[in-house]
Amino acid sequence: MSGWQPTRRSFMAGLAGSFGLPLAARALPASPDVVVIGAGAAGIAAARRLIAGGRSVIVIEAADRIGGRAYTESTTFGVPYDQGCAWLQGPDDLPQVSLARELGFKLVDHDNARDVLFSGNGRASRTERRQYDRAFAHLEDALEEAEGDVAASTVVPSDMPLSAVAQTWMGPLDFGVDLTDLSTADYNVYADEEVNYLVREGLGTLVAGLGTGLPVQLGTAATGVDWSGDGVRVETTAGTIEARACIVTVSTGVLASGAIRFTPELPASKAQAIDDVPMGLLTKIALQFDGERFGLTESDFLTYVIPNEVPAEACYFLTFPTGWDIAVGFVGGSFGWDLSRAGEAAAVDFALGEFVKIMGSDARRHFVKGHMSDWAENPLTLGAYGAARPGRFDARAVLAEPLGDRVFFAGEAVAGPYIALCSGAHLSGDAVAESVTAILDGPSGCGSCDARGRQRVRIKETPE
Ligand SMILES: Cc1cc2nc3c(=O)[nH]c(=O)nc-3n(C[C@H](O)[C@H](O)[C@H](O)COP(=O)(O)OP(=O)(O)OC[C@H]3O[C@@H](n4cnc5c(N)ncnc54)[C@H](O)[C@@H]3O)c2cc1C
Repeated sequence: MSGWQPTRRSFMAGLAGSFGLPLAARALPASPDVVVIGAGAAGIAAARRLIAGGRSVIVIEAADRIGGRAYTESTTFGVPYDQGCAWLQGPDDLPQVSLARELGFKLVDHDNARDVLFSGNGRASRTERRQYDRAFAHLEDALEEAEGDVAASTVVPSDMPLSAVAQTWMGPLDFGVDLTDLSTADYNVYADEEVNYLVREGLGTLVAGLGTGLPVQLGTAATGVDWSGDGVRVETTAGTIEARACIVTVSTGVLASGAIRFTPELPASKAQAIDDVPMGLLTKIALQFDGERFGLTESDFLTYVIPNEVPAEACYFLTFPTGWDIAVGFVGGSFGWDLSRAGEAAAVDFALGEFVKIMGSDARRHFVKGHMSDWAENPLTLGAYGAARPGRFDARAVLAEPLGDRVFFAGEAVAGPYIALCSGAHLSGDAVAESVTAILDGPSGCGSCDARGRQRVRIKETPE
């Protein structure tokens, strides 16, 4: 049962009061050193770093809020609900973790989360559990041992019992793509995630908290970046801003959509790289219940046996994260796109139907309402996170290359060993901002930069 149920007002007051964050934005500089496009995790980290280095900055954000794909809202269910990222994962020196602790956020360790397996409308047998564990272990081994950069589907062990369950978690739900579209190099680039937390107040609340007080202009979309001169001219829906450099943090989906026009045009290699890292999709379908727990416990994964075919039409859940009365369903990959297109009512109906199949029809009596996240349709994201096409992992490094030392790219798609993650977006924004600061300072400005002042970004080579 959930305890604390804040109103939105009391929650924001809590943010300002207990965490001691300034609410008033600073005055926007007229012609800043740097324009940051996008106030998601990467843009926020970049702006913090640039300001700490004494640079003047404007962050322009097309939406009417900061945070981007880190988005907690309390309006739908009356409790913090992360429509985007929820797990804070990454290295144990992750700045977001120490900042969360400083700001008084409650981090719930989720490293050893239980994955409860159902079969039909009861708990799976020991045999099924063993089969599931074995299918998962074999899948992980096969992906780790894959040579070069190929589609994950070409290396999965064929016909193992419960393989479709493992493949559904691994492809659509973890990477936002079916295994046919999952690059084994993407899979293998990850560094071990040393921390893995759920944030009770919401990971989106934390990211937005880190952006509080930054010079962000909301409701202002970049429509063009002119890098033909010495600096940059960023055209926006609120006028043109001239700056010495700009950092672009929008998703590859937004870049591919052409919403931002580049002058001169992007080099062909960059345009190809954007095409090579299209957006995968993870959609959340959250179901609120009246406090009933159905014998389940908080923050468990709820998985069930499906026919051994992929792509599967299944919705697996995180039950009652950190004690809130919602079961968060996940669909992704091709089925996720299909369900998103079908609309919220159909998606909620499907997710509730799956839940009822496992828990019994009584679950309908306890159901309050549902919600589907709209990352597929949202023109400011156009998907959940980038997934390199099989064989095209190297495009991520091209994506990260600056244009003429004045237009830089940061965000989850170029986050090295933490691609697709919120932590990676933060680290990427921070590293790129350090690089920009060094370039603006001249060749001697950055100890960890290369001869041209570029930060050595932690992009790994294609795994062998
Ligand atoms: C459903 C879902 C679940 C996820 N779960 C996790 C998870 O549990 N853990 C995890 O680590 N990661 C997770 N992620 C991924 C994580 O949310 C992202 O990797 C991260 O938030 C991306 O940050 P970013 O700054 O790179 O991009 P964004 O957050 O997309 O920031 C870019 C910003 O640019 C803005 N923008 C777009 N176009 C323009 C324009 N023309 N002009 C100005 N502004 C513009 C956008 O509104 C946005 O605010 C999840 C993502 C989704 C969608």
